[in-house]
Amino acid sequence: MRTIDKINFSGKRAIVRVDFNVPLNKDFQITDDSRIRAAVPTIQKILGDGGSVILMSHLGRPKEGPEEKFSLKHLVPHLQKLLGLDLKFADDCVGKSARKLADGLKAGEVLLLENLRFYKEETRGDEGFSEKLASLADIYVNDAFGTAHRAHASTTIIARFFPQAKAFGYIMERELESIDKVLKDTQKPYVAVIGGAKVSTKIEIINNLLDKVDDLIIGGGMMFTFIKAQGGKIGNSLVEDDYLETAREILSSAREKGVRIHIPPDAIIADSFSNDARSKEVAASRIPDEWLGLDIGPESIRKFEEVITEAKTVLWNGPMGVFEMSNFAAGTTAIARALVKATEKGAFTLIGGGDSVAAINQLQLADAVSYVSTGGGALLEYMEGKILPGIQAINE
Ligand code: AMP
Repeated sequence: MRTIDKINFSGKRAIVRVDFNVPLNKDFQITDDSRIRAAVPTIQKILGDGGSVILMSHLGRPKEGPEEKFSLKHLVPHLQKLLGLDLKFADDCVGKSARKLADGLKAGEVLLLENLRFYKEETRGDEGFSEKLASLADIYVNDAFGTAHRAHASTTIIARFFPQAKAFGYIMERELESIDKVLKDTQKPYVAVIGGAKVSTKIEIINNLLDKVDDLIIGGGMMFTFIKAQGGKIGNSLVEDDYLETAREILSSAREKGVRIHIPPDAIIADSFSNDARSKEVAASRIPDEWLGLDIGPESIRKFEEVITEAKTVLWNGPMGVFEMSNFAAGTTAIARALVKATEKGAFTLIGGGDSVAAINQLQLADAVSYVSTGGGALLEYMEGKILPGIQAINE
């Protein structure tokens, strides 16, 4: 792997694609700085070598050009504190200010560029725009796993201008190493836990996992499509009727491949989609009309805990129920705790995908599992077996 450890940055200017797409409150204060903190080791390695750093990122989804609320200048004070130095800020990522500040950058200094997505050229992957960014530096570093599945200017196209001088930062390195542990030469038994709202968004990852796992646990809203496909009664639960056949295909493919599929035997159902709804436990295939399943039940939890804690490798993507509502969070919480237990017993446990990451953070258990991936869409595409343009751009 081409990583920054193989480069001496002494006297060099490195342009680093980071993922500083952090949540801000209405006073432009950062409400979760984990993405910024994660990037600090990469920045420090370059500065430690005697190099200088130009940071570039997107923030939010600006529509037409610059928008105050999406300015990266809001991040400057906090980033200065984390790095313990004075930061330079260019109010335009490719304009004159960027040029001037980049040219004046000395060893040990850091320059932050304004939001890349103030230019449409960024997401279009425009070559001229990429070249302008590239002209600011001697070396290109990609440390933004979350956008590695996009062929944008700063994530992919820019690499063309650094044929010999490009590398992955530490976040990327750890992501790729950790994900490879659940993709290649995995320790068995290997259990995948897939939840979340819909089957349709997870089919490819499920199909890819069927060639690798011993057990596949299905939970979340998508369980009801599987239950209905097998003739169960699911009341008003979330279902994708267009995917009943797909669900049956997945089940039969699992049988052929010798993968044990675990579908929740019981569910917590509610009489409306609300935390205050009346609720009860029932068999997941006998949900009365007008009721809907919002979490897995206690028997499912017991069974799944047993399977997970016996595993040597566990991958978890997607919540088991509507965990945003406290009365329907028990299934998701139990799975998180089971992963922690498996980790304590020596298993490699990886959590990836937006909502299961939110759940593990909410429980403050992120440090108790082996790895929590930062990439939502990028992780899923990588796991589906796709080649991510941002990764290929560094490798080739
Ligand atoms: P995904 O982004 O596909 O991983 O789905 C995550 C979302 O699925 C979360 O917002 C959950 O609230 C939702 N979800 C999980 N279980 C259910 C369920 N039984 N019914 C409806 N939505 C669910």
